[in-house]
Amino acid sequence: MALVVVILAFVVFCALAVRQAPLWQWAVAALVLGLLTRVDAESGFRFTADGFLLLALFPGLVLALLCVPAVRIAVVTRPVYGAIKKMLPRVSRTEQEALDAGTVGWDAELFSGRPQWNKLLGIRKLTLTEEEQAFLEGPTNQVCAMIDDWDTRHNRADLSPEVWQFLKDNRFFGMLIAKEHGGLGFSAQAQSLVVSKIASRSAAAGITVMVPNSLGPGELLEKYGTPEQKEKFLSRLARGLEVPCFALTGSHAGSDAAGMRDVGVVTHGMFEGKQTLGVRLSWEKRYITLAPVATLVGLAFNLRDPENLLGRGTAIGITLALIPADFPGVEIGRRHFPARQAFMNGPTKGRNVFIPIDYLIGGTERVGQGWRMLMECLSTGRAISLPAIGSMSIKQSLRVTSAYARIRRQFGISVGVMEGVAEPLARMVKSAYAFEAARALTASMVDEGQKPSVLSALLKYRTTEAMRDRINDALDIHGGRGIQDGPSNYLFGAYQGVPVAITVEGANILTRTLITFAQGALRAHPFLYREIAAAQMRDQQAGLAAFDKAFGGHTSFMVRNIVSSFLHGLSFGRFASSPVSGEMAHWYRQLHRYSQAFALVADWTVAFLGGDLKRKQLLSGRMADILSDLYIMSATLKRFEDDGRIREDKPVVDAIMADCIAAIETNFFAVFSNFPNRLLAGAMHMLCFPLGRHARPSHDAQNYRFARAVMQPGAFRDRLTLGAYVSHDPWDATGMLEDALGKVVAAEEIEGRFIRAVKKGTIERRLDRDGVADAIEAGVLTAEDAVTLRAADEATERAIRVDDFEFDELAAKQFQRTPRIETAAE
Ligand SMILES: Cc1cc2nc3c(=O)[nH]c(=O)nc-3n(C[C@H](O)[C@H](O)[C@H](O)COP(=O)(O)OP(=O)(O)OC[C@H]3O[C@@H](n4cnc5c(N)ncnc54)[C@H](O)[C@@H]3O)c2cc1C
Repeated sequence: MALVVVILAFVVFCALAVRQAPLWQWAVAALVLGLLTRVDAESGFRFTADGFLLLALFPGLVLALLCVPAVRIAVVTRPVYGAIKKMLPRVSRTEQEALDAGTVGWDAELFSGRPQWNKLLGIRKLTLTEEEQAFLEGPTNQVCAMIDDWDTRHNRADLSPEVWQFLKDNRFFGMLIAKEHGGLGFSAQAQSLVVSKIASRSAAAGITVMVPNSLGPGELLEKYGTPEQKEKFLSRLARGLEVPCFALTGSHAGSDAAGMRDVGVVTHGMFEGKQTLGVRLSWEKRYITLAPVATLVGLAFNLRDPENLLGRGTAIGITLALIPADFPGVEIGRRHFPARQAFMNGPTKGRNVFIPIDYLIGGTERVGQGWRMLMECLSTGRAISLPAIGSMSIKQSLRVTSAYARIRRQFGISVGVMEGVAEPLARMVKSAYAFEAARALTASMVDEGQKPSVLSALLKYRTTEAMRDRINDALDIHGGRGIQDGPSNYLFGAYQGVPVAITVEGANILTRTLITFAQGALRAHPFLYREIAAAQMRDQQAGLAAFDKAFGGHTSFMVRNIVSSFLHGLSFGRFASSPVSGEMAHWYRQLHRYSQAFALVADWTVAFLGGDLKRKQLLSGRMADILSDLYIMSATLKRFEDDGRIREDKPVVDAIMADCIAAIETNFFAVFSNFPNRLLAGAMHMLCFPLGRHARPSHDAQNYRFARAVMQPGAFRDRLTLGAYVSHDPWDATGMLEDALGKVVAAEEIEGRFIRAVKKGTIERRLDRDGVADAIEAGVLTAEDAVTLRAADEATERAIRVDDFEFDELAAKQFQRTPRIETAAE
């Protein structure tokens, strides 16, 4: 009987823990089990009410007592509340505003360890309206065809006047502005696809279109502007009659932008000949995209009101203003030259510039809310722009590299069929699929009204890091052809632009090691945020009551994590949940299993490190990588479903899943071996991986097949490079590759015949295929075959050619060195 009770107790414990049962159910179960221990099977199941009965019922009685809120609060919650208040991470005002600015969605599901699949699969598929589709195929393709990347980045260091005008005339700068305000009113998905298609042609052009459609005056006015400001500016911005920039960063305030020194003081001053209420502003900003050509300057500064003229106290906080660039006192500096990119970027400053109060974005209603406004725009903007440019750079690199690897021959074969080259090419295939999946999923979330601050942060750093790695892969595969810069180099502009994507909208190191996990845990953890909020409440009683609720939930969450992680670890996730049946169910179960392990480790990490979490960046960086791999897995599985389970893509999905899981395990084990508390580290290891590590990355043979498949023109290659601008002009920098690939593939069988005849000695080996004539004579080739073969040769010749220049041609383009750099003191 004792053994039966022990087994029953274990089963009941697991069942209650996994269901996160309420406390009263635990109490009832404990009482029933206590009673059962007093039943003697050998004496005919007789119940014995001896002195041990009280002992057997003790756990159940304690739990029952804890069900009474007053008792629980007095005995457990109050002491824990006091102790935990000191341990929980402290949240500054700006952090609080950043946290409040975003929403949580799928990230919270991953943090919960028990994802509800409908919240992933229910997110709408990539959908565009007819108008958006027509814009992509019409004006977007047209402007792509107009852009000459070499001319842009080398000759002009600017877009051509025709391209600027076309962009303005066709309202490319007003995609996010609503139709009622004269803009295109496009969805996040459409904006992302338009920006990225342009970026596939020229990084500088992509960034130029991205900025007015990202965090900046247009978005700020749309969301927070007064009716007069909307009326005055939005239509002009949409039509390109005003060019905006937004200035947040200063020399002393980069990543810590909220620590800016730029100040505004509320006061009276003269404006248009009248005494007016306004702000006297001083600022010094740098790195501002579009500033050198801007007509409207958005500005963030710290507002003070020493005379309390606005009635909001003296220290108001970060506030935003919109000032015409030709306003007296506004200085737009000379151009910076970021990573030798041609887009406009430069400093701006002003000293004691008096602006009227209605230049403040949102008027006096919005003073002091600047940080929150910026963070709200950032949580959606960051989900659209840089992931679009990053994923497109990967796709575009794959498009050109897959063609080049096929047409470039060494040792008598295409370089892409050599295993060493196929390896990076296969990496490009997997990244192209996975990052497009993540881009599309996140843009759809924005279109559904979410502001995914954590997911957009992790997507930004992961996509731009993958962009950096895949462009390096592309250059390695191209060898000298990718290095020799000139009009026919289609990789170098993107290569040079990588550091820009890595640094802007939150530099990647900061975004990975601070924002994603440290802030993500606060926001997306099911109970932590509520506990912190309760701990920070001024009213002690209300704080205690709120904490009691959150802490109760947190305790049952912890118990469930322990049991579920261990059971999933023991069974390798075989009994985890899946929304689908069949061959993909395995991957959903794995995703559930690893998100369960993540929930446990994240919870314990936050609980143990508390306020130290922001300093322990090596741990939080690895946790960010695990979370982002879980997200990439989710997006990949969703894309496969949304695309209608295309069989040809299944092996790619399998490989992405296997690689992500291998990376996740590596990061978990790095967390365990570096965790400051060895006991907890051992416990986490034992609970999540009771049988040790077992993940294997994707198989070599599988990866090799991807490389072979993508070197073939067709649906697989087109799907992987979806959205990239494809030129078919044989004299265009990228068009010549498409042309050559098609012709080389068409001539493949003929060439095989020709080479075999040369090897056999039927025809003589000669330079430059002069032997083709002999082959016709020998009956190896027909005249028609010879035409096909020559066309392939000519196209290949054109595509592998690199540029050369007159001796002083390049020197003539160099800029004169300007020795003087102005400092703030000047
Ligand atoms: C080409 C370009 C265009 C830009 N356009 C604009 C624009 O239009 N408007 C605008 O306002 N700004 C713009 N910026 C500024 C951009 O947002 C900043 O460069 C960025 O925020 C980083 O600031 P910083 O360069 O001063 O680096 P720093 O803040 O000096 O950071 C240096 C390094 O330290 C790391 N770091 C800093 N703090 C932490 C931390 N707490 N934890 C971990 N790591 C940390 C960073 O990740 C980075 O790697 C632009 C910048 C560039 C280069």
